[in-house]
Amino acid sequence: MRGIIEIISDSINQLKTSLPAICDANLSLEDQARSALHLLFDSKTEFKPPATPSESFQLCPNCGTPSESLSSPYCSEICRDQAAFVRQFRNAIATDSILTSEKQTVFGERLWWLLGGGLPIREARIPESAKRQVIKRCASKCEFCAAPMVTIENFGSGCNRPLHLRAVCANCSKTKPFGDPAFSQSPLLKDLSQRINAPTALRSCDDPQNWDWRAFLAERRSSVTSQIPSNQ
Ligand SMILES: [Zn+2]
Ligand SMILES: [Zn+2]
Repeated sequence: MRGIIEIISDSINQLKTSLPAICDANLSLEDQARSALHLLFDSKTEFKPPATPSESFQLCPNCGTPSESLSSPYCSEICRDQAAFVRQFRNAIATDSILTSEKQTVFGERLWWLLGGGLPIREARIPESAKRQVIKRCASKCEFCAAPMVTIENFGSGCNRPLHLRAVCANCSKTKPFGDPAFSQSPLLKDLSQRINAPTALRSCDDPQNWDWRAFLAERRSSVTSQIPSNQ
């Protein structure tokens, strides 16, 4: 009988062989996004589980910094999105749904966005009408620094309505083409890669079977109220 570790590494091997081998500008944008997933598995460094990060209900489960919010376990939306990526990716490996090219495209572009490379597929689909409204709004100037604009990018949400788009100059542009080597050494990439490759979840929020953010918040709330001195 195969153990969980063999099942995970089998699925990861199948995933790796199902991805386009290299990112080539002749591939469709979707296939370029899929090939970006190699970044998670190409690390030359041997997998070493990090020292178990201390987990406490007073800390953000993603990054470990103190967090007092009673509406979200995380210290920021960035941490929420990183944890969701790891957890959903681990779930997609466990269920083999990661072997479909649609899922690979979605995860590839989300990885690119988390690393700071923007949303190349989403931006390729910005409707002409939305582009015209943005150009009119900004008079063809970068909306961050007023230099001449070169392109239009998503700002934050990934929604393609003018409110969520910004005209940018070459300097202020964040979007990088899939395959750009800018992120291959990023500490965030190493962190995501270790958490996705780990045979068992390294953090409670990485575990698709058992993570329960409501229960986490309930624990945080009760540990906060138990610290408040009683009046009686
Ligand atoms: Zn955090
Ligand atoms: Zn600019």
